[in-house]
Amino acid sequence: MIPYGRQNISQEDVDAVISVLNSDFLTQGPEVPKFENKICSITGSKYALAVNSATSALHLSCLALGLKEHEWLWTTPISFAASSNCALYCGAKVDFVDIDPLTYNLCPIKLEEKLIQAEKENRLPKIVVPVHLSGQSCKMEEIARLSRKYGFSIIEDASHAIGGHYQSAPIGKCEYSDITVFSFHPVKIVTTAEGGIACTNNEMLAKRIELLRSHGITRDPNAMTEASKGDWYYQQIDLGFNYRMTDLQAALGTSQLARLKENISARHQIANIYNKTLIHLPLLTPHQTKNAYSAFHLYIIRLDPARCNRSRDEVFNELRAGGIGVNLHYIPIYRHPYYSKFGYDPKDFPNAEAYYSEAISLPIFPTLGQENQNVVIKAIAKALE
Ligand SMILES: *Cc1c(COP(=O)(O)O)cnc(C)c1O
Repeated sequence: MIPYGRQNISQEDVDAVISVLNSDFLTQGPEVPKFENKICSITGSKYALAVNSATSALHLSCLALGLKEHEWLWTTPISFAASSNCALYCGAKVDFVDIDPLTYNLCPIKLEEKLIQAEKENRLPKIVVPVHLSGQSCKMEEIARLSRKYGFSIIEDASHAIGGHYQSAPIGKCEYSDITVFSFHPVKIVTTAEGGIACTNNEMLAKRIELLRSHGITRDPNAMTEASKGDWYYQQIDLGFNYRMTDLQAALGTSQLARLKENISARHQIANIYNKTLIHLPLLTPHQTKNAYSAFHLYIIRLDPARCNRSRDEVFNELRAGGIGVNLHYIPIYRHPYYSKFGYDPKDFPNAEAYYSEAISLPIFPTLGQENQNVVIKAIAKALE
């Protein structure tokens, strides 16, 4: 089976992890701050707080922004459920904004319509989470304009997007958001096995996330309720979690980041070949917006029902049976059984519903190789003939 994504581990990566194993610190040593600094230098963000997953980073971001019970978080339905679960952890409520039919990202026009309605009903969101699907940035300038008008905070879920750009800045610079979150799960662009990070330019938010990722415990004398009694002394001043990243993971991440540029350009090369060779088939290749440089975590095609007489499921199953590990990103979150109790109506999200019945993620990862890619291309052509 040719998978849709695969990690790329070099000898340097292996050596980096082994050298931590032979060092004094397996966790809470020098590798985590080194990794965080590297992320800051790549993204241009002031602060970066590494944690054990993007899910944890999303949770801590919601807490740092003060999301409370009965408040609302809005996101796109076409994402991994972690994008909205973070609100439920805080006892808050979730609603969805339909997607843009071209980019499949959260649609700023639909967002504005929904905000106008929500303002009348006094249920404006506290936080909006745009997700950069497949690595292409959402229209952040438009979303940020709405955030100023309606007073919500923004967390960019950039789990797919490290190495991508929006306008002239790297994703993660937080020019149009409060916090940007990346994932380092092995299917993502850069891996730490499990891991995530929250980037921000806001010192208060950074301090809050730092405190909450490690039990709510501080060793900073300035944050204590009384004078420190010495080096050994610490205080728990809030209820936090153990969401820390280990030094083994951070060392792997730093080593991986050294190859980020070549990783992204290899993905673009693969995408360009797909774009050229699939163009004559009854499908849509990924639309690229002018002011965004995608990280191409995913390459998503959409069958065009006007020109294609086979269903997505037929094509999908045939490709899988032929050893092509195609996938679907994603089942709309509101369709998951756990979410059914909140009473969403799929009819409120026509673009997400259409996408859900037509989308297929094709294999894309730096070591895919021309030969395997040809196998994929031939199989799609055959499935659609
Ligand atoms: C993978 C992913 C997450 C969760 O990342 P973890 O590091 O596995 O917790 C969240 N959002 C999106 C869009 C993702 O793709």
